[in-house]
Amino acid sequence: MKVYISADIEGITNVTAWEETELGNIEHPMAAKQMTKEVISACEAAIECGATEIYVKDAHDSARNIVSDQLPKGVTLIRGWTCTPESMMAGIDESFDAAIFIGYHSGAGFNGNPLSHTMNRGNNYVKINGRKIAEFDMNAYVAAYYGVPVIFVSGDEQLCEHAKEIVPNIQSCGVKKGWGEATFNINPDDACKLIKERIKTGFSKLNECHIVSPEKFEMEINFKECVHALRSSYYPGAKQIDDCTVSFTGKNIQEMMAARMFML
Ligand SMILES: [Zn+2]
Repeated sequence: MKVYISADIEGITNVTAWEETELGNIEHPMAAKQMTKEVISACEAAIECGATEIYVKDAHDSARNIVSDQLPKGVTLIRGWTCTPESMMAGIDESFDAAIFIGYHSGAGFNGNPLSHTMNRGNNYVKINGRKIAEFDMNAYVAAYYGVPVIFVSGDEQLCEHAKEIVPNIQSCGVKKGWGEATFNINPDDACKLIKERIKTGFSKLNECHIVSPEKFEMEINFKECVHALRSSYYPGAKQIDDCTVSFTGKNIQEMMAARMFML
């Protein structure tokens, strides 16, 4: 069995401020350490459920956060960016049997996490087919494009609830709750234990976690600064909706994600 894990940092237990998410900042190592521990819990669950190959994508900012020498032997760690449409899902293909998301966070326009955003901090919201999304949605659809079921997500509580809208049978672990600029966090070791347990449940329900992709992917981006909407409107096929809003419709997620590379 081959398993894909995509890990972000803003949905890791205790991570609350941008400073903690920036490589080189004095506050970063503690966040990176817990991110690593939560990823290790996911790897251990996968191994105990029969995974023979595990790929982990470090999918936050520099993509050089996870402490590599702590990961179980045999795990492949993807660091840095491929600069291809899959982005936070780089390396995924039809050969994988399950996808897992660790440390994911609420999207732009949601208040479930003080660090809510979608791909960057330059937009007020991103929608797919009229529904406000988080990075989870894009990445789950990328997994679906390759026929890979999405069995588990951890992150802030609001994101975990949001994920169920497109994968009703997904297992989840809300490791914190956002309130204003604050976070209410569960104990880091408790988080790891729960993540491991629920991923194991996820593997037992793998066949219930396939996502049905929509017929088309209409991406709408509302930028904080109108000049970015103007610039994005020149991407072939893009439409300007109002001063700060553009849309692009792709026939599948791959086409939409390719446009996203240039527009968002
Ligand atoms: Zn991130």
